[in-house]
Amino acid sequence: MKLNGISLNIQHEVETQLLELDPHEVGDQHMMTNIYTPMREGAHDLTNEEKKREIEKHFRAIMHTLGLDLTDDSLKGTPARVAKMYVEEIFSGLNPENEPKIALFDNKYKYDEMLVEKNITLFSSCEHHFVPIIGKAHIAYISSGKVIGLSKLNRIAQYYAKRPQVQERLTVQIAKHLQRILETENVAVIIDAEHLCVSSRGIKDVNSATVSAFYGGEFKKKSKKQELFNYLK
Ligand SMILES: [Zn+2]
Repeated sequence: MKLNGISLNIQHEVETQLLELDPHEVGDQHMMTNIYTPMREGAHDLTNEEKKREIEKHFRAIMHTLGLDLTDDSLKGTPARVAKMYVEEIFSGLNPENEPKIALFDNKYKYDEMLVEKNITLFSSCEHHFVPIIGKAHIAYISSGKVIGLSKLNRIAQYYAKRPQVQERLTVQIAKHLQRILETENVAVIIDAEHLCVSSRGIKDVNSATVSAFYGGEFKKKSKKQELFNYLK
């Protein structure tokens, strides 16, 4: 039984337990094994061009196996299109070279209340089914002396969204990244998203949404949470 990634570098107790679970169970319950995206060794050895060639070949094989006619004018370009989309767009966040370059500014105007960037559009992909997760992220922080350009909050959220994901991990990855670069614990991230693997297949519930949250530092306090919720109303 192979549960990708978790046999590699980091071996927490919880992961060892998960190794004994049936992979189908893990996928259907959308369980997360690790806050790090599970990457294999040598993940970045191939160039983007090499990755695209490999994915194109394998995606062609999938389509062929499904019985599709790859000489059809409408279908023949699909393997290359999917490969390009995977590497350059929807999974580009797997490549550390695409991590957004962030310039921080001194908080000269001494703004010391929370800053909230709400309704950040997120497109991600469920790592268990490779179908879209569509939602909104709300990010808040209280400056420790450094401030960040507002659009950079969107960029960081999108960088982590452009990976095969589990919503809880996506939430934590964005929050931890912001805590690190802003040098403060005072970061909150809330994600409200629809999972197409839940709405379009499996249980087929088109009305359900999943909300996940991370509250660090001051945001653990009830009063700060309440203030944040008021802004999000
Ligand atoms: Zn799924």
